[in-house]
Amino acid sequence: MPRMEIVQIPVLSDNYVHLVRDTATGVTAAVDPALAQPVLSVLNERDWNLDYILCTHHHHDHVGGNAELKMVTRCKVVGAAVDAERIPGLDIAVRHGEGISLGQLSATVLDVPGHTIGHVAYWFADADALFCGDTLFGLGCGRLFEGSAAQMWTSLLRLRGLPDTAQVYCAHEYTESNAAFARSVDPRNRDLAARSDEVAALRRAGHSTVPSSLAVEKRCNPFLRADDPALQMALGMRGLDPVQVFADLRRRKDVFR
Ligand code: ZN
Ligand code: FE
Repeated sequence: MPRMEIVQIPVLSDNYVHLVRDTATGVTAAVDPALAQPVLSVLNERDWNLDYILCTHHHHDHVGGNAELKMVTRCKVVGAAVDAERIPGLDIAVRHGEGISLGQLSATVLDVPGHTIGHVAYWFADADALFCGDTLFGLGCGRLFEGSAAQMWTSLLRLRGLPDTAQVYCAHEYTESNAAFARSVDPRNRDLAARSDEVAALRRAGHSTVPSSLAVEKRCNPFLRADDPALQMALGMRGLDPVQVFADLRRRKDVFR
C-alpha cells in the first residue's frame, strides 16, 4: 500500500494548506495554497520539490498562492474543468470520476458543487484521505455562494458515501464555532456533545481539529444528517424532504451568532 505523508500549514486567519507527499517517489502536491510563502518555507525546510497544486475551488483563500508557487517550483496546477477560467494557472483540467496520480498515490476527483459551482474534492482511497475544500467542514458545511441547497445536499451525500474511516481534511479551522451551532439545533446528540468537548480541548491546547473522521461527522454534523429522523424531530421538521431540512439548517446557520 502506498504511503502518504501530510503536512498541515495554517495560513491567514483560519485556512489550512495541506502538503501531500508520496513517500516512495517524493512526488508532492499542495492542496488549496492560499499563500505561496508559507508553503515555500515548508518545502525548503524539508528539501522537497512541489510537483502539483490541487485546487478545490476558485476562491482567493484557496488559489492565492498558485501563480507564485508555479513560477518558483514549475509545478502543474490541477482544478475543475468547469471552472477553468477562474482557477489561476490551471494546467490540468479534471472532471468528476477522473483520477490524478501523485507518484504511487492516486486520487479520484469528485464533483461537489454548492459552495461554488465548480467545487471538487480529491479522494485518496488508498490513504483514506479526503480533501474537500469548503464543501464539508468539521461539524459544518460551506455557505451556498453559487449553488442551490439541492446541489449541496447531493454533494454532501456523495461525501457521506465514502468509508467511515475517511479522514476529512477540510480547508478551514471552523469546527469550534460550528459546534456551537450544531449543539443549538441538536442538543440531545451525545456523540455531538462528546465531539464538541473534544474540539474545545484541542483548541484550548492550540491544536488543529482537522482532520476529523467521516464516522464522527456522520454521527455529529447536522449538515450530513438532514434525513435523520432524530435530527428532523429536534428541528420540528419530521418527515420533510431532506433538501428542505438542509436548506433550513443552512439558512439558520447563516444568521447564527
Ligand atoms: Zn471558499
Ligand atoms: Fe475558503
